[in-house]
Amino acid sequence: MANQHLMATYNRIDTAFEQGQGSWLFDTNGNKYFDLISGIAVCGLGHSHPEVTRAIKEQAGRLIHTSNLYQIPLQSKLADLLAEVSGMEKAFFCNSGAEANEAAIKLARLYGHQHGIDSPNIIVMEGSFHGRSMATLTATGSRKAQAGFEPLLSGFIRVPYNDAEALKDIAKNNSNVVAVLLEPIQGEGGIVIPDKDYLNKIREICNDNQWLMMLDEVQTGNGRTGTYFAYQHNQIIPDVVTTAKGLGNGFPIGACLASGKAANVFQPGNHASTFGGNPLACAAALATVTSIQKEDLCAKAAATGEKMLTALKEQLKFADYVKDVRGIGMMIGIELDSPCAELLVLAKAKGLLLNVTADSVIRLLPALNISEEEADLAVNTLAKLIKVYAADDRGRERRAKPRSGDDRRKSR
Ligand SMILES: *Cc1c(COP(=O)(O)O)cnc(C)c1O
Repeated sequence: MANQHLMATYNRIDTAFEQGQGSWLFDTNGNKYFDLISGIAVCGLGHSHPEVTRAIKEQAGRLIHTSNLYQIPLQSKLADLLAEVSGMEKAFFCNSGAEANEAAIKLARLYGHQHGIDSPNIIVMEGSFHGRSMATLTATGSRKAQAGFEPLLSGFIRVPYNDAEALKDIAKNNSNVVAVLLEPIQGEGGIVIPDKDYLNKIREICNDNQWLMMLDEVQTGNGRTGTYFAYQHNQIIPDVVTTAKGLGNGFPIGACLASGKAANVFQPGNHASTFGGNPLACAAALATVTSIQKEDLCAKAAATGEKMLTALKEQLKFADYVKDVRGIGMMIGIELDSPCAELLVLAKAKGLLLNVTADSVIRLLPALNISEEEADLAVNTLAKLIKVYAADDRGRERRAKPRSGDDRRKSR
């Protein structure tokens, strides 16, 4: 039921939830759902996590907001903690992923100007997603998202993802490049996982050219892929990292982290946010990050994710309409051979909340702390569902066009 006073920016599913507990959501009609999307990688600790709830309640009763005109001890504490888990040096706090990336883009441009480059360029990737503000929309590699909002910003160069050679070519011909901005794994782009050494190659190219290596970990961060940040799989330290989504377990907060040559680019007056890093947001994030540490959720996400991935591959191995099952930690994509948005309706009817991205990729972003039984339940229900969907009219219709090698279909 669309509300006449809401802008029509979303195609919403006609369900409202009124309560959540762990990986479970309860709608206004008393139906129970297994949440495999976690508010799009936001509620990594599950819903109503006691530590986060307690921190928000206590802080709300004490002090919600002051201003960055003053010292904010909780903000300092959170900056220290993020430095510890990330290996980065400095933090700027904001309220969303787009804002964190805006800060990164501004930092890169200022870095360029400080080094005598008046028209700095930032290299971005095909298939990327960085947000909906004008600069982050420009950086985003989706014509569909950009259409109608021109003129976009200048100063961005786009290259194919997972192609380090493309960066080397630009390095030879363009002396105005100041930074590379990319996701370690493309989330909205369809859970696209690059080669294992891709980030290492980019680190090297950035070092060779004095470019800033800037990673958008808004979706991949905060334990999602089995390490606190995804770049930690590669044993590198980027110059800039952005985070948001899972940082406050649902309380809005984002951060732009910097190290090395990026650490001291911003000086007083260069950038700001009224709400950014206020006491309430920092209390929520401190409770979230501390809980991720205490409950060993990076390791847990790695182990549960691996188990789910293996089981999904096993259960779907004879399904020829499944093109690929891939993932790392609790970030899993099941790519079908045709658009499958309708699967969401079927899944919801079976009590499963998931998401489809890049038209044909079923995306799972479960809470990091789901139990083994819950993981089994998710895999079994979903695998069955995909088979039913593929066999019914909606699935068959779209796949009516014969493909080469279709006779390889095996029994299920
Ligand atoms: C969601 C997302 C963003 C945007 O975050 P918002 O909080 O919606 O502004 C940016 N980058 C990536 C990789 C994301 O997944």
